Amino acid sequence: MKTTQLIKGLLWRQIIFKEGEITIYGHPMQLTVSALFPYLLKNTEDFWKESCFQYDMMKKTYVEGIYRKLMNQKDMTEDKFIKSCMNLLDLCGWGKPSFESSEILKGDANLQIEDSAIATMYKKLIGVSEHPVCSATRGVLAGIVTVASKRDDIEVVETMCLAKGDQYCEFLIKPREELVNSGNKNFRIQLGMHLKDESNSITSRVPPGRG
Ligand SMILES: [Zn+2]
Repeated sequence: MKTTQLIKGLLWRQIIFKEGEITIYGHPMQLTVSALFPYLLKNTEDFWKESCFQYDMMKKTYVEGIYRKLMNQKDMTEDKFIKSCMNLLDLCGWGKPSFESSEILKGDANLQIEDSAIATMYKKLIGVSEHPVCSATRGVLAGIVTVASKRDDIEVVETMCLAKGDQYCEFLIKPREELVNSGNKNFRIQLGMHLKDESNSITSRVPPGRG
């Protein structure tokens, strides 16, 4: 399956390999090791602060860096956009997603990812986690939904995670207000509501000794 997508991408000239350079849909990319995000979560003093940072960072960089450009391509439809993004997720090794495009467009969906690379590496390197660990994947998914639905109020929380011992990772996609008011404390924490006193979870991250 992945090989087919790779060949399709190459044929469409949407994935370009040049010396020292990989370009996907016109955006420069680089491959990195799957251990990166698990190690960032392990080596932080505040798991949820790092988790929220990864979520926000991935959402913003993917929306601005690649998804909006992809959506603005000629003859692109929302449905084709969602399928291309999900293929990209699979092709780039994030895991295998199963999804309903129509539900994602409505901003009200459940989505499963099998074999999440982040969760698999977390379990292997650090052990079984008490919390869901695929915060970066959540951000990438939130970016897809934001651009496809043309709504800024849709968020993604992880309800099941391979790293916790679940069979696969499951994500819930809903308007922020619904998640915050659901009464589920974990949803509020995943969305950084406990950090709300800090101005912004990205700008507040300052390296030690420089604050
Ligand atoms: Zn997970």
